[in-house]
Amino acid sequence: MKKFEVDQNGYYGRFGGAYVPEMLFANVEELRIRYLDILNDSSFQNEFHALLKHYVGRPTPLYFAGRISDKYNTRIYLKREDLNHTGAHKINNTIGQILLAGRLGKNKIVAETGAGQHGVATATVCALTGLECTVYMGKLDMERQKPNVERMKMLGARVVPALSGNQTLKDATNEAMRHWINNPEDTHYIIGSVVGPHPYPDMVARFQSVISEEIKTQLFEQENRENPDYVIACVGGGSNAAGAFFHYLECEEVMLIAVEAAGKGITTGQSAATIALGAEGVLHGSKSIIMQTDDGQIVEPYSISAGLDYPGIGPLLAHLSEKERVKFTHVTDKEALRAALELAQLEGIIPALESAHALAILSELNLKKSDVVVINLSGRGDKDMETYIRFINNEK
Ligand SMILES: *Cc1c(COP(=O)(O)O)cnc(C)c1O
Repeated sequence: MKKFEVDQNGYYGRFGGAYVPEMLFANVEELRIRYLDILNDSSFQNEFHALLKHYVGRPTPLYFAGRISDKYNTRIYLKREDLNHTGAHKINNTIGQILLAGRLGKNKIVAETGAGQHGVATATVCALTGLECTVYMGKLDMERQKPNVERMKMLGARVVPALSGNQTLKDATNEAMRHWINNPEDTHYIIGSVVGPHPYPDMVARFQSVISEEIKTQLFEQENRENPDYVIACVGGGSNAAGAFFHYLECEEVMLIAVEAAGKGITTGQSAATIALGAEGVLHGSKSIIMQTDDGQIVEPYSISAGLDYPGIGPLLAHLSEKERVKFTHVTDKEALRAALELAQLEGIIPALESAHALAILSELNLKKSDVVVINLSGRGDKDMETYIRFINNEK
């Protein structure tokens, strides 16, 4: 067994597992028993990679960013997940899971979404395959993220408002789970990050691992070495980071850095830096590090970037932090905004606000001229233009 692989019971060290209500046990168990055989089957792999190539547009470029390299006096490569169909890495996972749903004989899909990015990626693959799609979204989030609601509807999905609690992601997740409990025979639940009960974290990490698989090949072509000195990724639930780190976990000489959203600052109470602020607990079906009050209530997270605004982190990432294989750090809204503007003006690339968090730590690293740094550019910034325009106007 590889060093950071999930164990028989779905644990990474003390994190992971499958904490699900009795009523969900059969669904999760079916998935646990079958997922590896399905994923490892060559016809599945062929179909998955063909869709990644011809539909998603993979491999995404590994781009040597010359002007930003000059600025930081090092060698910086950007893994361009922003160039995927639908504009981020999330589609890698939904393509994998929609094919899996077909192999499991399911013809309906349910998903939860916060900002709507995972909902759009799910609605996209449902349209692609003709499966019926229901997406739960907090009522408040539906009001805040209208364009994504419209996109999902145009793609043929049914978007159902979650009316309980704070009417955000946590409530949408609860309702999606309830929907799955009530429709176990014909429905597959597509989770959008490396979170949830086993086997979801492992399954999603495997689908996203195509990112580091490509980096290895592409870096060898350009630098004559497969391993960079650094790989840097932002972390919400942890799926783009897990994908960018996956094939480097055993290569101890590669420094892996995960960047969380500090929001307005980690001492302000308006933050989403789970590793910095959280403690062990159970959320969405697995044991991990989560942001909670002393009596175990989930703390409502905050980040300017909707994709990082999550009160937990996947169990693999929690384990990698504890074992000090991945170094965790965090940057504020302001720092991320500045980094986005810098990338736009030095390279002509407008990143997603999430990805801008990964860029923002460049100035804090002690980089050498000969270092090779790979930054996972998880998504593009079109969806964040309103926020960027407001920032630019305030800076003037
Ligand atoms: C959703 C999202 C993230 C955060 O999710 P992870 O599972 O941590 O990768 C990061 N970047 C973009 C562009 C996203 O859409």
